[in-house]
Amino acid sequence: MSTSQLPYNDHATALRRRLGGRVQKVAIDAHLGCPNRDGTLGWGGCTFCLNEAFSPSYCREARSITEQIEQGIAFHAERNRQSAHYLAYFQSGTNTYASAEHLRALYNESLNHPKISGIIVGTRPDCINSEIVDILAEIATRKYVAVEYGIESTLNRTLQRVNRHHLFADAVRAVELTQGRNIEIGAHFIVGLPGEKREDIVAQTEAINSLDLNYIKLHQLQIYRSTAMAEEFYLHPEDFLLSGEFSTDDYIDLAIDILRHLRPTTAIDRLFTLAPRNLIVHSPLGGERPDSLRKRLIERMEQNNYRQGDLLF
Ligand code: SF4
Repeated sequence: MSTSQLPYNDHATALRRRLGGRVQKVAIDAHLGCPNRDGTLGWGGCTFCLNEAFSPSYCREARSITEQIEQGIAFHAERNRQSAHYLAYFQSGTNTYASAEHLRALYNESLNHPKISGIIVGTRPDCINSEIVDILAEIATRKYVAVEYGIESTLNRTLQRVNRHHLFADAVRAVELTQGRNIEIGAHFIVGLPGEKREDIVAQTEAINSLDLNYIKLHQLQIYRSTAMAEEFYLHPEDFLLSGEFSTDDYIDLAIDILRHLRPTTAIDRLFTLAPRNLIVHSPLGGERPDSLRKRLIERMEQNNYRQGDLLF
């Protein structure tokens, strides 16, 4: 199926069109830490978080930003993922958690690499301010810039339960502060956080639609070893939607339901994930690869003539 016929607005396709060729993200660990781990907001971090799950080996082995980019591009090249454009993806930790001068230097170091066409900055929605947005907006006058807010859930009771130490109102504020500056705004959500039922998850699309987002990433909850959530899952599996009887087909149906309630102008960056087996204690979709799951979802949407946004609230 050609990407133009996809039943949903695919972010990779939009990015390819915008930059003019295949785009590959190169993960960067800027070692900025996180206010939810160093005592500024909290000590334990979010109950689901295992930071090493987001750092490919080339981030851990290399020190400087430039070294990580070199090793990241080589890593992808070895896997036949040569691309016209590479984006430096500041992914691990909270990538706006430093002084404005330090952040400017970090982002610019990545952009000084001749193969880097832009940056993606992942961060918490309560860890942004107008000075940092100004830096990103200045870079956006010459390069691609996206900021990705970890919103995770629009329900405050869930945010509190997973120890996020921010509320949905912080996400609303962050998006409002960022919009209109030529910065792509992305948001990350986790499907299946404890206490959320199927109907709670689908109903959240209304709040998501109220935000001025260019794209969203959502994926099924993975439960990592050595996390507080692993303990919670062990003690109360009944609080987790994606446990027990919930099958891969059920998740595909849920993902379709979410898509059908999302406005079509919000692009979809991802719907599934697969963490390394040695890091997880529970992966609800039986280890099936994201590409295979995505193919099944598209087939099911096409067979039923479903499109993104055709059930908008
Ligand atoms: S998920 Fe993000 S905000 Fe939460 S502890 Fe991990 S790095 Fe910090």
